[in-house]
Amino acid sequence: MSLTEIAHVVGGRLSDVLDPEAHVSQPAVFDSREAAPGSLFIALQGEHTDGHAYAEAAVNKGAVAALVTRPVGVPAIVVDDVLAAFGRLGRHLLNGALGRAQVVAITGSAGKTSTKDFIAQVLPGNVVATPQSFNNEIGLPLTITMADERTGFLVLEMGARHIGDIRQLTEIAQPDISVVTNVGTAHLGEFGSRDNIAQAKGEIVEALPRAGLAVLNADDDFVQEMKNRTKGRVVTYGLSETATVRAVDITIDDQGRASYTLVTPEGDALVRLQFVGDVQVHNSLAAAVVGRKAGLGLEEIATRLSQAQPRSRWRMETHVRADGVTVVNDAYNANPTSMRHSLDALVSMTGGRDQRSVAVLGRMNELGEDARTAHEEIGQYAAELGLDQIILVGGDEAGWMQEGVTKAGGKAIHLPDQDTAMDLLHNILRPGDVVLVKGSRGVQLQELADRLLQPN
Ligand code: ATP
Ligand code: MG
Repeated sequence: MSLTEIAHVVGGRLSDVLDPEAHVSQPAVFDSREAAPGSLFIALQGEHTDGHAYAEAAVNKGAVAALVTRPVGVPAIVVDDVLAAFGRLGRHLLNGALGRAQVVAITGSAGKTSTKDFIAQVLPGNVVATPQSFNNEIGLPLTITMADERTGFLVLEMGARHIGDIRQLTEIAQPDISVVTNVGTAHLGEFGSRDNIAQAKGEIVEALPRAGLAVLNADDDFVQEMKNRTKGRVVTYGLSETATVRAVDITIDDQGRASYTLVTPEGDALVRLQFVGDVQVHNSLAAAVVGRKAGLGLEEIATRLSQAQPRSRWRMETHVRADGVTVVNDAYNANPTSMRHSLDALVSMTGGRDQRSVAVLGRMNELGEDARTAHEEIGQYAAELGLDQIILVGGDEAGWMQEGVTKAGGKAIHLPDQDTAMDLLHNILRPGDVVLVKGSRGVQLQELADRLLQPN
């Protein structure tokens, strides 16, 4: 699109532009260091930095112009609200140049990124998917600018912290297929209740047109209720016998990877996943439904699911050290639901002779007034699983988890920081041990997981 067209679409005016017909031909960028010839620089106002200060650097690296709220002395499109304008640009691209692309939208409390990674690898042809977890009003239009007229599918992760967030995202990108993984307790502090979370997530199926498809987890009551909130057709997936697409005969290998028989109305096929953790059975089933909708045959779906690789770091990322210690880095994020699932996965990966289970856990953020109870309950859960070692890292929250462990009659070691935890782990780890490292994003436990993998 030319700068004139973009200014028209977003309702802005050009400033310091020498060539109004200059074309933006590359994805948008927020980081001036990523600017390249043909890109559009989006000047965001952050808490600590103001993107306007980097517009010149972006243009020097080849950006055609910057999207800004005030003139910056280099070619720019000036608007009142950069994010709203960027959203309008995304919507315009989808309605116009990208009109061929089907939109697959994914939300849920946990499993959005894994499900997105499965779907992106199951779908045929030119597929563009949300990078990492860029699932908000910034990442969504950004992903749209990564697509072009050859793109057949846009696979978009949609996150919500408030009621109305998803509606806003679907107003930019109306889904043809909407997937809801589950309604858990992530961001419970902000939402107040699971009902509210369901209210917020369900907006993704409300946005479907009549010809659309809602792909719903059959094993989650709150998700099932969303059937009544869509004009589209509904297909369910899960373990329950009522699901249209199911998994039966699930087995977990000693690396924590699941195999199962995929049961569909068209027949059965064997799936052997590369992703670690039994939660991936559900995530891959959702992708099977989407693949089926795209017209793929059963065998093809099973093959593609079995070949799909995790693309996102720090999610059950599993490495075996030369000395035979397995490190499972799940430090991307943590909430009570995902903690339980990861601890379950740890149990399924251990239990053989000389295979001790070691959990290194940090705090879970954003739990509001439930924080103390939630941490205690996780401690209790870990103790009841009978793990061989529980190491809790950090301040108050780690202490609360320890109280839970003690209440359940277990033992845990509480350490103030990563350095002391490293010292301890160096001393106690033995070949065969499996170490799970997990905590909320802000705890940065992936650093500890990385250090565990470095040679001494
Ligand atoms: P975020 O909101 O941080 O972007 P997400 O919804 O994208 O998270 P993933 O990154 O796919 O979720 O998974 C995060 C963690 O949640 C995983 O490491 C795993 O422990 C857990 N998890 C993944 N899928 C499921 C699922 N279907 N049900 C429950 N827990 C899951
Ligand atoms: Mg994610």
